[in-house]
Amino acid sequence: MEVYGLLGNPVGHSLSPPMHEAAYDARDIDAQYVTFEPPVEAGARAVECGATLGVAGLNVTIPFKQDVLPAVEPDALAARIGAVNTVDFGSDPPTGHNTDAVGLVRAFQHHDVSLTGRAVVLGAGGAGRAAAFALAGEGMGVDIANRTVETADRLAADVTAAGGAADSHPLGGVGELLPGADVLVNATSVGMAEDRSPVKPTALHADLTVLDAVYTPVETRLLRDAAAAGAQPIDGAWMLLYQGVEAFEQWTGQDAPVEVMNQRLRAELDR
Ligand code: NAP
Repeated sequence: MEVYGLLGNPVGHSLSPPMHEAAYDARDIDAQYVTFEPPVEAGARAVECGATLGVAGLNVTIPFKQDVLPAVEPDALAARIGAVNTVDFGSDPPTGHNTDAVGLVRAFQHHDVSLTGRAVVLGAGGAGRAAAFALAGEGMGVDIANRTVETADRLAADVTAAGGAADSHPLGGVGELLPGADVLVNATSVGMAEDRSPVKPTALHADLTVLDAVYTPVETRLLRDAAAAGAQPIDGAWMLLYQGVEAFEQWTGQDAPVEVMNQRLRAELDR
């Protein structure tokens, strides 16, 4: 039996075990998906232990996404982003991927959204970095707005240095960015477990597609406002689904049973 897992602290809330185990059942793969919650200082050592113990693959979440870098060979995208959320132990050293970035793009593709024109990314933490690099990688011009503008400045400089087109702004300036935007991604934690939006409803418009990375709740205030403005709303569970789909495919080399994984994820979120 293969062992896959999630490395994080805390990991108790994770939806990944049921989503991945539903996929193993559907594909008749003899595997288990477990959670590992080492002390926060464990970092790269936890990945080395995984290799020694014969773990086949790990997802990585807060606070370890940067810490594991010394223990893996990151692919080009993960190296640019500076964070890894999926480790594949099929090589030595293990390979590190950033399936948050790929998952975001696949979530848009699932909804037939053409990633051209301008994107506004709110947030410059882990999800914001993944979103900015992913959308710039698709050829979009990216405006990054963050509460701490210096972090947005650094991210815009990193994206630009990697050949993308990005500018930075204070979060309060988002209203001026949206009239010319095609895509809006909320990668701040605003709206998580609270009925609050990082954007004034009047700034939203019918030519926008709005993806909220927040998935608890699934229907955030931002997405309700987006729908009311005639924009296309995409909830954060799609990004969560496709980062898992991408990890499954990296680990097993098989096409993921996307619909099975989606149904299981939505059932868990509805609980
Ligand atoms: P993070 O690295 O801690 O970054 C948090 C971001 O939110 C930073 O940009 C931070 O701004 C901003 N922020 C926090 N509180 C704020 C507030 N009160 N007002 C304005 N901005 C605020 O976290 P993360 O990993 O990027 O996660 C961000 C969100 O994305 C979370 O809700 C997470 O669940 C979600 N997420 C979803 C997926 C998915 O698959 N759907 C994947 C990853 C993350 P400062 O820099 O100013 O602190």
